[in-house]
Amino acid sequence: MENVAEWKVSLHGGHSGEFCDHAEATLEEMLNAAVEARYHTFGVTEHVPRHEARFLYPKEIQMGWTVEKIHDDFHRYRERVHALAHAFEGRLNVLRGLEMESVPERGYVPLMQAFRNLKLADGTPNFDYAVGSVHHLHEMGLDGEQEDFKRIVELSDGVENTAVLYYTRIAEMVTSLRPEVVSHFDLVKLNVMRIGFEGARLDTPRITKLAETALEAVKSVGAILDLNTAGLRKGLGEPYPAPWIVQKAHAMGIGFCFGDDSHRPSHVGEGVPEARQYLLQLGVPTVTVLRREGSIGSGTIVQKQVAL
Ligand SMILES: [Zn+2]
Ligand SMILES: [Zn+2]
Repeated sequence: MENVAEWKVSLHGGHSGEFCDHAEATLEEMLNAAVEARYHTFGVTEHVPRHEARFLYPKEIQMGWTVEKIHDDFHRYRERVHALAHAFEGRLNVLRGLEMESVPERGYVPLMQAFRNLKLADGTPNFDYAVGSVHHLHEMGLDGEQEDFKRIVELSDGVENTAVLYYTRIAEMVTSLRPEVVSHFDLVKLNVMRIGFEGARLDTPRITKLAETALEAVKSVGAILDLNTAGLRKGLGEPYPAPWIVQKAHAMGIGFCFGDDSHRPSHVGEGVPEARQYLLQLGVPTVTVLRREGSIGSGTIVQKQVAL
């Protein structure tokens, strides 16, 4: 690993078709792409499986997948990511992660903690860190089908209330799960921007206040914010989160790290140079990365600030 930039780290991504319905390629192919993209450290954060059939994605149902099948896949994943972290040593620092969900609304916390704390056969922790995400409101997917999002807005009584609810859920999730990384902090904008609700704003005083409360939660647990490049890939014209959130978080002393949110090899490293410029232009000169000190399994994971 010569001449790789220390800031070139992704802490969210590496989803692969081996373990995820909406991704492509094998995990090994994703890691080879990360070597090629000249990453210093690449965190793999496969989605935890959902626990009830009502949360299965349309494509999963179409393919005949069940809750049992996605659980089996996740257990294959956790062994595979550990084996590949060893196999790539010297070429790429692979961090073994998972992306936690916030459904079912009642009861997700112990479920997610059980995944987070899984151990390998030798008793060492299976995962180095976790990413915490809110992908659901009213227990419906908020970043998938536009029809679902329209229904969420209807149930919430408008776009402003939807965003207020979203940031309320982020604050709750962060406080209860204490993830090391909080992903795509303003994901709620995806379908608002795609659908184009008349006159909708996502920075009204009510929304800003709740977003600040959520940032306070991020700060209080010492989490890093995911500067997530998927927003660029999805045509939003900016990554997650929006400039005003980046500036607010930075002023509060919260650190950022890149997340390419890759779901296929061509996504690996995509948008990171643009995201780096974005941070620099917003007055953020450093990223906060995670590092493994010591060996895989028995080592510890520490935060480190590095210059962009
Ligand atoms: Zn995904
Ligand atoms: Zn996500």
